[in-house]
Amino acid sequence: MITKATAAVLRKPHGKFSFETIDLGELRSDELLVRIEACGVCHTDAVAQDITPLPAVFGHEGTGVVEAVGSGVSRVRPGDRVVISYPWCGTCPSCVEGRGYICDYFIPLGFAGARLDGSKTITLKGKKVSGAFFQQSSFATHSITTERSVVPIKDHVSPEMLAAIPCGIQTGAGAILNVFKVGPKDGLAVFGTGAVGLSAVMAGKIAGASPLIAIDVVEDRLALALELGANHAINAKGGNTLERIREIAPRGVEFSFETSSNEQALSDAMECLSMGGKCGIVTVPHLPGKFPFTPWGLFTRGGSLHCIMQGFSIPSTFLPKLIELNKQGRFPYDRLIKTYDFKDINKAFEDTKAGKAIKPVLKMS
Ligand SMILES: [Zn+2]
Ligand SMILES: [Zn+2]
Repeated sequence: MITKATAAVLRKPHGKFSFETIDLGELRSDELLVRIEACGVCHTDAVAQDITPLPAVFGHEGTGVVEAVGSGVSRVRPGDRVVISYPWCGTCPSCVEGRGYICDYFIPLGFAGARLDGSKTITLKGKKVSGAFFQQSSFATHSITTERSVVPIKDHVSPEMLAAIPCGIQTGAGAILNVFKVGPKDGLAVFGTGAVGLSAVMAGKIAGASPLIAIDVVEDRLALALELGANHAINAKGGNTLERIREIAPRGVEFSFETSSNEQALSDAMECLSMGGKCGIVTVPHLPGKFPFTPWGLFTRGGSLHCIMQGFSIPSTFLPKLIELNKQGRFPYDRLIKTYDFKDINKAFEDTKAGKAIKPVLKMS
């Protein structure tokens, strides 16, 4: 069965998306067809434009209603509402151990624009093009994904609230709660107050981090970080960020979390640690850029640098937990969301680049 869908297709890196009709092919036994209701926009959708072969359909934070399932699918049925999170192969040693967030095949599953065997899910004007981005390509009215990637959602939660969480917000909250396991009185410095950084701030508050310091160069983001739980805000434009952190935490902080991709921020994040502290990073410079850093600060403190993928989260349990924390008023990520009609996808990308939207979410229906 071939399904026609409307997708936002990108033909040139960092160009404009155009709306085109695509054909989605037959479902494999472990796959499902989802009618997409909403999809978040994440920094990775921009970075990947230099990696994934074009033309391509991006989008990796889809949510919607299952329309059809392959013969081997048992966890979800047509009519179920699902959130689509990161892909994992299910058979490599990491996946078998229950750590799909570090699946051996994360890069090809995420960025090759095809299934792991190289086959494509999307045909555009008779030609196979890159789809299966994060095994979903959800900037479209319909998406083929795998049973492993989806989390069924029983509660009534709006599509925009669901589409906001399965990547960046999960990453920020997961870094603090799953990876660092921050405890009360642990100091935490969060560099960059976009969606990932602010999620880390909210999670830091839940964990009781103190001091909880937010660092950025945009005043209104810092003001929001203070409202969401930071107890100190530092505008890095003023310089001397490290000295200012040391004034607040003379021994340094137990944990730092760098989300901005700025090389001074990474240096400060490594230098502001207390003895034995941990620095987490979630971004890299755009290729072929490099971070010119010395591990001196880490070395002299017995510290460590941790690259954190997806907050080391298991979406089937972690996403419902974030939704529940939101209902309790303890994780108010709704304050980060800006909703756009799907037709305004180019505006959503422009606004994100200009810093006018923290967590854009596209609404398909
Ligand atoms: Zn795997
Ligand atoms: Zn993402």
